[in-house]
Amino acid sequence: MSRKIKKLFYSIIITLIFFFTSKSLALALDISIRVLVYKGKEFSITGRSLTLYIKNNEQIRLESLSKITGRLEGLNLILEVSSESQNTQRFELENRSVIEVLGKDITVNSTTYRGGLKIINRNDNILIINILSIEEYLYGVVPAEVPYYWPIEALKAQAVLARTYALKCITNSAGKDYDLENTQNSQVYKGKNGEYSTTTEAVNSTMGEVIFYNNNIASIYFHSTCGGHTESAKNVWNTSTFPYLVGVECPYCSESPWSGWERSIKREEWDKIIKGGEIEIEYDSSGRILRLNGVDGTKIRSAFNLPSTLIIGIEIRDKEVIIKGKGYGHGVGVCQWGMKKMAELGFSYKDIILYYLPGVTIDAYRRF
Ligand SMILES: [Zn+2]
Repeated sequence: MSRKIKKLFYSIIITLIFFFTSKSLALALDISIRVLVYKGKEFSITGRSLTLYIKNNEQIRLESLSKITGRLEGLNLILEVSSESQNTQRFELENRSVIEVLGKDITVNSTTYRGGLKIINRNDNILIINILSIEEYLYGVVPAEVPYYWPIEALKAQAVLARTYALKCITNSAGKDYDLENTQNSQVYKGKNGEYSTTTEAVNSTMGEVIFYNNNIASIYFHSTCGGHTESAKNVWNTSTFPYLVGVECPYCSESPWSGWERSIKREEWDKIIKGGEIEIEYDSSGRILRLNGVDGTKIRSAFNLPSTLIIGIEIRDKEVIIKGKGYGHGVGVCQWGMKKMAELGFSYKDIILYYLPGVTIDAYRRF
């Protein structure tokens, strides 16, 4: 091949690669997500060039607004709408009304969001749902789940985990008003206010990448600190449907503030839950307490508000019981403090994910 033809050949290949990669990325970008950001009785929305659609029997469209407030009176929603020229209009909308808001710098009760809003008043509550592209949503999620100053490979791992979790929620929410919540019930989302350049870079540089198992989107779990060994999903939720959530050794999280802890519990509180004088402990394969005197480890954890079930010492005194343990969280899936250390040691975000979730693959998102 002559040099010219070779050059042409390579440039065609590069163009083709770019075309197909950008196509799959564009598909990923096209996916929108619906996040519940407010549930309550009254709200205040500000912004620039707001457009409001009231989607009741008659469709009403109002433009160039600067403020929209709403409150419930009985089941009806009272809306007050101010235009940029200071005119105010009032609407009374019946139960199950749907409103949409588009515009710039949309701010709901002091939090600014990308994308638009859908507002539904339903049975005693106003729901405000932020609708935006999944990648923009992740800008406000990753810094709420891990510190923005952690190493970039750890932030990228968290971005892929959060994207996978969000897509899984979308596939499971057909027929519902929203895909997920902005709290720990789903994953914490702080809108535009919570964004940092480092975490935004982590989202952008992993754009569209998702974790699969057997060609299905994986179910993602993570926790703060495993304490030395991650936990099998089978031991916590009694399910064997996640072969990649089996529990692995983790020598990486010893610098976590939760690597060791101690709790004092009043003896009378202890005696309410734990019966019998002699302590008999059944450990699971990760070293966590499966049962203590017949009581499940997870029940003991919630009853005494313990950071984890990885208990390494129990001392029963006259008036108190001292419990020593390691780790914070259920221990299933990715250990976030371990993820940080692995990134510091030079592992890539893919190495980190494949270490904690053995058997998964990481690939560009293409389809549902
Ligand atoms: Zn760990």
